[in-house]
Amino acid sequence: MKIAMVSEHASPLAALGGVDAGGQNVHVAALARQLGERGHDVTVYTRRDHPDLPETVSFGPGVTVVAVPAGPAAPIAKDEILPWIPRFGRWLHDRWLFDRPDVVHSHFWMSGLAALDAAERLGIPVVHTYHALGSVKRRHQGLADTSPRERIEAEAAIGRRADAIIATCPDEVDELIRMRIPRTTAQVVPCGVDSSVFHPHVEPLERPERPRLLSVGRLVPRKGIETTIDALRHLRDAELVIAGGPPAAALHHDPEITRLRWLAAQAGVADRVRFLGTVGRDRLPALMRSASVVVSVPWYEPFGLVTLEAMACGVPVVASAVGGQKETVVNGVTGLLVPPRQPLVLARALRGLLDDPVRRAAYGFAGADRARVRYGWSRIAAETLAAYEDVISSRGLSPLDGRPRAAG
Ligand code: UDP
Repeated sequence: MKIAMVSEHASPLAALGGVDAGGQNVHVAALARQLGERGHDVTVYTRRDHPDLPETVSFGPGVTVVAVPAGPAAPIAKDEILPWIPRFGRWLHDRWLFDRPDVVHSHFWMSGLAALDAAERLGIPVVHTYHALGSVKRRHQGLADTSPRERIEAEAAIGRRADAIIATCPDEVDELIRMRIPRTTAQVVPCGVDSSVFHPHVEPLERPERPRLLSVGRLVPRKGIETTIDALRHLRDAELVIAGGPPAAALHHDPEITRLRWLAAQAGVADRVRFLGTVGRDRLPALMRSASVVVSVPWYEPFGLVTLEAMACGVPVVASAVGGQKETVVNGVTGLLVPPRQPLVLARALRGLLDDPVRRAAYGFAGADRARVRYGWSRIAAETLAAYEDVISSRGLSPLDGRPRAAG
């Protein structure tokens, strides 16, 4: 199958942990690689955000990343990309006129707009994954939400225009129904985890002297790191290590780190909180293995790859009962679910777990098992490909040449 993926701001080539580089980058990169390894021809279209970026970069067997010229060849915050999306869409259209994919999979709402503008005119089916929904963001962030005003309306329209929506958890489907997107358009295919990289047999990076809580992710307020800092006041023997944000050398200039450090000082726990900056994926499994518990307590979470990666490493998780985490974590089996933004409840859950090595080991074991069986790439890739095949055949096209199927 010839597959075009569109991911306007989240390039598979980007460094992770920055404000706009997280789960979507990881998911698009992994999905493209997995499909390429299965013999499909995958092109990922992303916005050219650096003058030195070549137009095409090979990204493993069968996968090419194409840098689309739309807007300045420099990083732009994702909330500022919208004005360049019509140009992005026109470029895709001109490209697909002579290099026609069988199916387009767009990631994030602005990619959906560009992909649909191009593909609708050419009769190419489009599958869309939102990764995050503006309505949810607005509900939780209120005035702090800097998304373009058009976002919520545009997301509803994408849901009505796309051939299929791949939601990453059942919670998202509920939200799509609230947006009046037909239920039959959406199906759930969760994100996958590479269990050859994230697995329980990785040697821990170090053996810390005290119980280690680990937080991994983009350093933005909605990730709820301050809840864990607050909980640390009640866990006097534990340390909190925080991975994510800028590279280690730039930690002192990061406003969110400054804010979190100040909160830690106010709570009297600053000496037990350590910021690592962004940690490469090659070191992440060993870092996770060095933790007693991985804590992920965002206010809301479309999927939550970190929680799944920790489970895959056999590390118990304490996660907020939101979005995708309600599905990945089986409460009391692979970890614990707690309400978001409740430091006391979090502290109590962590205390119980830190004091009970047998339960930690049991959660870790069950988590690794669940990650491998339910979220391993062989299953996730097969479910994604089935969604592509469905939209191709329901348009009466043939997956191999993208042309109408011969009668009979
Ligand atoms: N990540 C990483 N290094 C870091 C911080 C994050 O590799 O320093 C990765 C993390 O392992 C995960 C992704 O970035 O794969 C974050 O995805 P998640 O779904 O947890 O959150 P999002 O960024 O999508 O909100």
